Amino acid sequence: MIKPDGIRGNFTNQIKRVILQSGFVIVHEMMFQLDVRNVTLFYSEHSEKSFFPNLVEYMTSGPVLVMVIEKTNAIADWRALIGPTDAGKAKVSHPNSIRAMCGSNSERNCVHGSDSPQSAAREISFFFGEISPG
Ligand code: ATP
Repeated sequence: MIKPDGIRGNFTNQIKRVILQSGFVIVHEMMFQLDVRNVTLFYSEHSEKSFFPNLVEYMTSGPVLVMVIEKTNAIADWRALIGPTDAGKAKVSHPNSIRAMCGSNSERNCVHGSDSPQSAAREISFFFGEISPG
């Protein structure tokens, strides 16, 4: 997912270029304007955290581009490409990562990636409903 700061900063084409050059296929993509309810469901694991109100404000601040991307070892490879959650730290420790390129700090980190096959399945059906393989 390209988050609102990534879209606003015009990073969409650059991020897609990295995705394709890294051997992923973009299987589905759609823009969404999330509302409070969507963000609360999507990030339910964080709903008790102190940063949650800011996260809701951030994630509803503009449209997001959600993509289903496919390759062997996609989840680990995508997480490695985006870099650490804190984009400020990523600029130092992972200067070639996507978050170093377009993020700002631990909240405004411009992209999301599913962290397990289970969360990928949940998140794909969250946005696209059930997608049949092939
Ligand atoms: P994502 O789930 O978006 O790919 P992540 O798995 O790297 O990110 P999580 O710990 O799941 O990180 O946090 C989800 C999102 O909540 C982060 O991407 C970030 O936007 C926000 N967030 C996480 N930690 C903080 C924090 N300490 N302060 C503010 N926002 C935070």
